[in-house]
Parts: sequence; structure tokens; C-alpha cells
Amino acid sequence: MKILLLGSGGREHALAWKLAQSPLCTSLHIAPGNPGTARCGTNVDLSPLDFEGIRRHCTAAGIGMVVVGPEEPLVKGIVDFFLADPALRGIPVIGPSAAGAQLEGSKAFSKKFMDRHGIPTAAYREFNHTDFAAGIAYLQQHSLPVVLKADGLAAGKGVVICQNHVEAVAEFELMVQGNKFGEAGNKVVVEEFLTGIELSVFVLVDGDHFLVLPEAKDYKRIFEGDKGPNTGGMGAVSPVPFAAGDFMDKVTSRIIVPTVRGLRAEKIDYKGFLFIGVIKVGDDPFVIEYNCRMGDPETEVVMPRLKNDLVELFLAVAGQRLNDCRIDADPRTACTIVAVSGGYPGSYEKGFPITGLDLPVPADSLVFQAGTLEEKGSIVTNGGRVLCVTSFAETVYEAVDKSRDLLERIQYEGIFYRRDIGYEFL
Ligand code: AMP
Repeated sequence: MKILLLGSGGREHALAWKLAQSPLCTSLHIAPGNPGTARCGTNVDLSPLDFEGIRRHCTAAGIGMVVVGPEEPLVKGIVDFFLADPALRGIPVIGPSAAGAQLEGSKAFSKKFMDRHGIPTAAYREFNHTDFAAGIAYLQQHSLPVVLKADGLAAGKGVVICQNHVEAVAEFELMVQGNKFGEAGNKVVVEEFLTGIELSVFVLVDGDHFLVLPEAKDYKRIFEGDKGPNTGGMGAVSPVPFAAGDFMDKVTSRIIVPTVRGLRAEKIDYKGFLFIGVIKVGDDPFVIEYNCRMGDPETEVVMPRLKNDLVELFLAVAGQRLNDCRIDADPRTACTIVAVSGGYPGSYEKGFPITGLDLPVPADSLVFQAGTLEEKGSIVTNGGRVLCVTSFAETVYEAVDKSRDLLERIQYEGIFYRRDIGYEFL
């Protein structure tokens, strides 16, 4: 089967690497991809948001399955676009419909969904410009810290945690009246702050059944010790030591089961990845957020740990046969460390040549490319998060050590990475 994968980051390199291993995948196209995905298949110069272009490519190339990496095409309705076209309807698209993607596309929708289905999450209220004054009054009496979330997609930047009321009111004004996040911030969710440790739970959903994939923990802050501004993610580990037994049973019974049942009860078409950001408060799990796709960099540890044939799993998603499958995960620990451009997540320069990418990689390590570009035969930096190195070992300590060792041999001007990924578990 010919498969088209949409996206161009480290997540897509990891998905491409995994898909290309399947005997069911005769040819893999990645749109637009990066120099890393080009090692797994053929890059196609198409934007994941160019639905017409994707339609033409699928027809011309005889694509039999589409896998969607990032959230934006899903929120913008790529699944609905395929279902509405008689020539495309038969091609399974791995990802939810626009209605299902609202779990990520609208914080207000996801909070109401959780309310309707009794799924544990932080207490909240929702405000917009019509009840602006009520929003200010609500904020002024709210316990601290207080969490403000822009309703729509804001490239991971739409959440602000405020330590005092003056800051909270100013932030609220910036979002609702100052257009800080554009349309995404016209509506704001004001939420109680939860204290606990977070983990990312990944579920494959076929509309009726689900399978829980290996979980992961990601590290969002730029500096060691979880200091400094938030980034897209500086590293990840899987498995997560505290995500065991009783706690994961609670995640399944209190969160995953009611979410999948709720989607079905509301007749929301959801066939794809569901990523649940969970926080452990005491011994109990609460939902921090839903995403309608895999996480990045979590994919770079989850896919290497997954022993199943991914195409087989996707065919079971499309055929609503996930109840016939079981997840088989590598018991070892995987750790990934992300190397970023100097200055990221603030402004940074691009175009620096990367050396060391062609050196031999040990059998238990993998290099995934993200913000890279091929220019005149060499690979140069082309984004904030440039590449990541995943390694396997029996312990977090050894896995991190192996990734660090390999990263020392990869160089570009301004390279920066955290050396303490997984520090709580060492
Ligand atoms: P989100 O985009 O909703 O995942 O939020 C980004 C980050 O903000 C999360 O990963 C948490 O670290 C933090 N966060 C969001 N909501 C809360 C909350 N209610 N309590 C504590 N931290 C939160």
C-alpha cells in the first residue's frame, strides 16, 4: 500500500521511520517532510493544509492511506474533506474529523465535553468580550495561581499561568481585547491551577475501541531544572516510572473509557491518535488537555518502543478492529534529547551547516531530524527544534547518557540541548 504522511517535524520523521518498516507499506510519501523523512521515503512538496493539492496527489499517485501528523489539517477538516469526495472516500485518513479535533481546537469545547462525561479536570469558567466585566470580577476573586487559556489553536503558547491578580487581569485584557492570540484568544478559559506531576498518555481510537500506547513524559522548559520559557519540547522519556498499575487503571477507567464512549455517544467520528495530557494530583489523574494527534518529541520515544506493525494498527483503526489487536512495547527505557537553535524559543538564525549526521549511529540510538533543510548537498538548520537523538537502555540514566554522547558528535553553530532530561527518575 502507498501511504502519504503529512507533516515535517521530528514527529513525522519518527512516524516515517516506523511506517517504512512495515511490509504492508510498499511506498511512503511525506508532504512536505524534511531531509530525515527523505531517508524513509519520498518527500512531496505539498503543504499539509493544501487539501486540493493533497487530493490531486492521492489520485495521481494511487495513495491508499493518509496519516496526519500535525493538528492543523485535522482541526481544519481534512478527514471531512476526504469523506465528502467520492474519489477519496475509500482512502482511510488516520486522524479525527473536525468535530473530534475540537478536543484540541477549542479548550472551551473540551472542557464542556469533560463536564458532560464526568471526566476529571480542573474547575473552570469561560469568558469572551460579551461578558468581559464578569470575567474581570471572576479573576479578581480567583485563588492563585490562576490559569488562562486561549480557546483556539495558539501553537502551544496559548496557556498563561498567573501568580497574582494584576497579572491575570492584564493577561485577560490582552487576550480578549488586545487580540494577543488573534481569534484563538477571543474566548478564554479561566481554570483552577492543579499541582502535580504531568505525563502524556497516547491512545489509538477506532471509534468503538481503543488501545493505550506507551506513555511518555516531556520536558517543555528551555533550561535544565525546568527553568526558563516554554518550548515545543526539549526531550522525553518513556516509560514513565510513576505511570504504573493502579494509577494507569484510574487513567483508563476515569478518563480514556468515558472519553471514547463520550465521542461515540455524541456521534463524533474519531479514528486516530488521542493524546491526553494528564496531571497526577495526589494519587488521582486529571486531564490538563486533549490533543488530536501524537506529541512531539514524545513520538520520538513512543514509536521506537512500539514493536507492532504500525500500518497493521492503522488498518485496524480504519476497519474498527482495534479490539483484535494488542500493543507490544519494548520494555527498555527510551529517552530523546532535542537539539535546538541558539536563541530558541526566542528569535534565532537558520542556515547553519550540521556536521556529524553521517557518522555511524549505535544500534540502540536513532537520530530524528526536525527543523533541517538540504541545501546544495549539505544539511543546514531550518527551525527552532533542529533534531533529536533517541537512545534505548535499561535505565533512564544510561539512555540519557547515550543520547548525550551521540549529540556531542553532532555540531552546528549555536547548538543547545538540555543534559538533564529524565532528571527526576535518575
Ligand atoms: P496546555 O496547552 O493546556 O497543555 O497547557 C500547557 C501547560 O500548562 C501544561 O502542560 C501544564 O504544564 C500547564 N497547565 C495547563 N493547565 C494547567 C492547570 N490547570 N494547572 C496546572 N498547570 C496547568
